[in-house]
Amino acid sequence: MNFETTLILVWISVLLFATTIIYSLWWSLFWDRSRGQRRCPKCWHHVQERFPFRCNECGYLTIFEGNLFRTRRRYGWATIAILALMTGTLWLRDQLSTRSWWSLFPDRMVIAMLPLADDGETFREIPLYLANCLMRGEMSDANRLRLLSQCVHGDSWATPGSYQWLNKFASIVEKIDLFPPNAPVSDATMDEIEQGLNALAPVIILDMPMKWNSVEPIFISVNVMDWWPAQSEVTLRVTAVNDIPVTASALERLTHEVWQRATAANANNTTFTINFDSLPVGTHNGEISIAWESNLPASTNAPLGSHAKGVVTKSVNIDVQPTKEILSPIANSELDALVKEAFEPGLIRWPEGNARHAFSYQPYKTSSSELDAIAFGMIVEAMENGVPRRRLNVWWRGGRGGSRTGFEIMLEDQIALDHAEKSDNWTLRIRGDEILARRVAGMYGNAPITQWWSGQVEIPMNVSDRTSDRTTGRSDRGRAWVLQGPSADVKPKSN
Ligand SMILES: [Zn+2]
Repeated sequence: MNFETTLILVWISVLLFATTIIYSLWWSLFWDRSRGQRRCPKCWHHVQERFPFRCNECGYLTIFEGNLFRTRRRYGWATIAILALMTGTLWLRDQLSTRSWWSLFPDRMVIAMLPLADDGETFREIPLYLANCLMRGEMSDANRLRLLSQCVHGDSWATPGSYQWLNKFASIVEKIDLFPPNAPVSDATMDEIEQGLNALAPVIILDMPMKWNSVEPIFISVNVMDWWPAQSEVTLRVTAVNDIPVTASALERLTHEVWQRATAANANNTTFTINFDSLPVGTHNGEISIAWESNLPASTNAPLGSHAKGVVTKSVNIDVQPTKEILSPIANSELDALVKEAFEPGLIRWPEGNARHAFSYQPYKTSSSELDAIAFGMIVEAMENGVPRRRLNVWWRGGRGGSRTGFEIMLEDQIALDHAEKSDNWTLRIRGDEILARRVAGMYGNAPITQWWSGQVEIPMNVSDRTSDRTTGRSDRGRAWVLQGPSADVKPKSN
């Protein structure tokens, strides 16, 4: 007996139960009316005698004829019916205290109601309920695919790629390919799930300054949240910049840069940086369009494959200021120590892929609020006997701004880095840089940045090797995006 048949039986039982209770109550309280017959209100025998009225059976005597027309009410039975009703209700409440009351409906029906989940009231628990069903493996394959299709298409209010979609559907999609070990999935179903995921538009969030110094090139961090399968080959490309006066050469460069997903790092939340170059002074409100293309190659297990593409358009609003803010340098041993701690994890290395190396760093080390006015713009280098083998530009703001970082890779000698090890030969050198610090200066509205870290530190470089299945935490996400070079060699440009 499958789950939905069980549900139908539960519903029939509940209906029968409710009908029985209602009928019993009506029967015990209202059914036995006198209908014009004189009856003894004690023993209910017919009373024949005229005034004064006396019951032949039990001797009940009254002078009020009205007493003889009472409805016979069976309070004992009514009490039993009410007790049964209470018991039933308590049982239902008990059932629903451990499960959602959506579990009383067939999954198919709940999935169909998912678009209504925005009302903030009755239906808002549907996404959570469905996600839980997926996790517990309490959903048929057919319904799982139906649900995935619903998520891929979104609805009129929560279109794929939007924040609304993220809030409503992401928690479901993240669990769509989870199966409990005792309920393994068929290859055919998994194939269909991967096809569906391959067609799913990413959610792209731009981290960009509201206010900017006019003199420096402007960098925008592109945060990509995606649910593409690990095997999907994915590229992203800026296709248009509207109403933002980027120079012809910058536009030419932007629209020809193809970002390729280098690794299907677990984290479906990774960042790359695009460079707009300098913009003229003024307030600019426009938009940027980023096209995505996702190709899931066919394989023995998944013979169908899938090809999907789409365009995500994001608004860009920047106030480019006429004056250059003056930043004063600051360096002291406390700040230097914090920077050392921030880069203490050192180099991460994966055994394969065209982006096998990354620096792991911890911007939160500088997140105390006293550092709110300090910009950290840093040139970070992996040095082998004094020769730089990898150079990363990275910038973030002290204080609460530390969670938003920008970066660009300037140099990477993969062959040398493959042999890096924790030894006296390898160090990590971090130098404060005013130009990079300026990339942060205009980035955050409220408290202005007035200082840049001008120190320089050098520490022994830690090296940690990761396994190829990148199923680790966010700080481990490595480099998901690389610029696809014109030739076979990949020009690295990500963290
Ligand atoms: Zn009587």
